[in-house]
Amino acid sequence: MPTVMETPTAIGGTSVPFQGKSKELQAGTVANTLWVTFKNDATAFNGEKHAVFEGKGALNKAFTQQFFELLESAGIPTCWLSTGELPETAVYRTLQMIPVEVVVRNVAQGSLCKRLGLAENTILKAPLVEYFLKSDALGDPAIPPSAITELGLLPSRVCLKQLEWMALAVNTILSARFKAAGVTLVDFKLEMGLDSEGTLRLGDELSPDGCRLQDAASGQSLDKDVFRKGTGDLIETYQALAGKLAKSPWDLSTLPIQTYTGVVVVQSRANILNPQSRTLTHTLQQTFVPAASSLLEGGAIQQVDSQKRFQVSITATHHWQALALFNQLADEPLSNPVIEDAFVEDITLAKERS
Ligand code: UDP
Repeated sequence: MPTVMETPTAIGGTSVPFQGKSKELQAGTVANTLWVTFKNDATAFNGEKHAVFEGKGALNKAFTQQFFELLESAGIPTCWLSTGELPETAVYRTLQMIPVEVVVRNVAQGSLCKRLGLAENTILKAPLVEYFLKSDALGDPAIPPSAITELGLLPSRVCLKQLEWMALAVNTILSARFKAAGVTLVDFKLEMGLDSEGTLRLGDELSPDGCRLQDAASGQSLDKDVFRKGTGDLIETYQALAGKLAKSPWDLSTLPIQTYTGVVVVQSRANILNPQSRTLTHTLQQTFVPAASSLLEGGAIQQVDSQKRFQVSITATHHWQALALFNQLADEPLSNPVIEDAFVEDITLAKERS
């Protein structure tokens, strides 16, 4: 399925720019880069409502730069490379986009309330991650995780847990950053893709176009909802948000340390001869007789493999850091990568330490 960020194909900045709803994209002069222009257009309701606001592109580029650079410094890969020559331009890495929108919610608003009948502004017990199929023709419908697999929407090296944990990490960092500025991060949408080396990165943009943000004291909207609902001036609103962030510097060292638990499972590679498992399988095949019952009839042992399981607790400041730590531990020293496969399962945020 072709996706926005991979659309320009020519290199050398000579391709015809691709016009998205809020950004124009053109292949950059360096391979695997894109020149991005943030447009002044605002759209809502799948493009039915449209207006142009002088200065919106530069504001959204500045928000995106600020947030992508912050996330990069926290170890979360993004498409951001550098600012462009104009206030509304930037240089991105080209990504092969995953056609799924990942939405994280802290407070129930918008489509969640309509779909589940939740009261507006219900504070959710834990951040909720939802997936939507990126399809204008279908109106970006909610898609269950099993259908993401069914439609083959994830590249082979990517699993849904990575999308979920990257999104939760972004939520932890941005929620804390906004909170320091007196702003509540209600919900937001992310898009992700793979770079030319196969690294999963955040793509698209991070701006009040794709987030719901509220003044924590007054509840006043500080995002594109003012345009959607016609309740305020978009530029004044975005400028007010930028002003709040500028007045409240914040850094990652203030993030609380949290405890995450997980299970690292280690087993012999499928193609590695494991004499112990072979003997055990053979013995059980000879001796195991299913109890006489129509339910068990036809059942037999095919293969028995032994596994090692390690219950692990670690501390980290966000989910992406935790996932990286678990993966590193699983690769080595908990397994021998020459003869064993290792994977991490059941990872959960255990409890906040501070
Ligand atoms: N969102 C977005 N683009 C979309 C759909 C949603 O940026 O195509 C953002 C939206 O701004 C909000 C969050 O995702 O911050 C959740 O949106 P919701 O599902 O409530 O959809 P809505 O009712 O706003 O259409």
